[in-house]
Amino acid sequence: MSTPHFRRVALLGIGLINGSLAKVMRREGLAEEIFACARTEATLAKATALGLADRTTTTPAVAVEGADLVVIGMPVGAYGAVAEAMAPGLSAEAIVTDVGSIKADAIRAIVPHLPDPSRFVGGHPVAGTEHSGPEAAFDTLFAERHCILTPTDVTDPAALETVCGLWQAAGSMVETMTPEHHDRVLAITSHLPHLIAYTIVSTVADLEQHLKGEVLRYSAGGFTDFTRIAGSDPVMWRDVFLHNREAVLEMLGRFTEDLAALQRAIRWGEGAKLQELFTRTRTIRRGVIAAGQAYDRHVLTDAEGEPDDDDADESRDS
Ligand code: NAP
Repeated sequence: MSTPHFRRVALLGIGLINGSLAKVMRREGLAEEIFACARTEATLAKATALGLADRTTTTPAVAVEGADLVVIGMPVGAYGAVAEAMAPGLSAEAIVTDVGSIKADAIRAIVPHLPDPSRFVGGHPVAGTEHSGPEAAFDTLFAERHCILTPTDVTDPAALETVCGLWQAAGSMVETMTPEHHDRVLAITSHLPHLIAYTIVSTVADLEQHLKGEVLRYSAGGFTDFTRIAGSDPVMWRDVFLHNREAVLEMLGRFTEDLAALQRAIRWGEGAKLQELFTRTRTIRRGVIAAGQAYDRHVLTDAEGEPDDDDADESRDS
């Protein structure tokens, strides 16, 4: 697959993900000009200072004028409004893609506003950190991580190939699946774990008053990882749950049943049952490590494949 070259790229939203993509484009020489759009001048000034954009604007229609590639990278709840706002400036030949963490609703929000729906290719780089904004961007964020593209029946194969080439230039392993399948898979692998982390950290925060600081003092025993995940961007995650409601509720239902079964095993002292389950999950953990999707390989220091706590913050789970 050949590496694409763009005359003008419009980045709608210039935070962690689009900022990192801008760095990749600079490094690989993929774009002659990068035009960034955000809500606030403060974000655009940072993007300019960091060398992520040649030109900036707060008006989506201005940013996309003359662009051959448009990448939407903002919370999914803002997609509909920004797609409508960019439409007057958009050329029918422009390829439009996005980086949102949910896909079926993303397509529903964007595609009705496009002059040619076949030029839209939904995308989700399965890579991220708990940090936000252009200053959090780095050009190796997507390296050796999966990027899922979600073409539909009408997607132009040439547009799909171009977007695929873009992510391969970023070092990603590109896969395609339907938007609905993507949303179900991510509901269990990403959205539910975030929901659990948000719940645990909130429960602990309530307990903290009674335990007088002991929770945070001894938090290295596993709780730190939850706080990292629960430190993710509140607006982005609000939108993920609002726009992947059905799949998340389905997975939450299954999880609640399994949790109740565990609760029962503990109550009745069923040690064998607990050990069997923990042995199974340990095998799964080793499989995840072997697939290279848990933590950066350089932090895998021992045979257990366990990262040390200090390095955990550098992980790029999403
Ligand atoms: P981010 O760092 O918070 O940046 C968001 C950008 O969108 C900023 O430039 C912001 O501009 C702009 N924006 C925010 N709200 C807006 C609105 N209502 N209208 C117009 N522009 C708005 O976000 P991110 O982490 O890059 O996430 C962007 C997308 O990538 C999301 O859809 C997310 O689901 C997806 N994603 C995130 C991760 C992750 O780990 N973070 C991983 C994979 C995919 P201002 O600063 O001017 O408000």
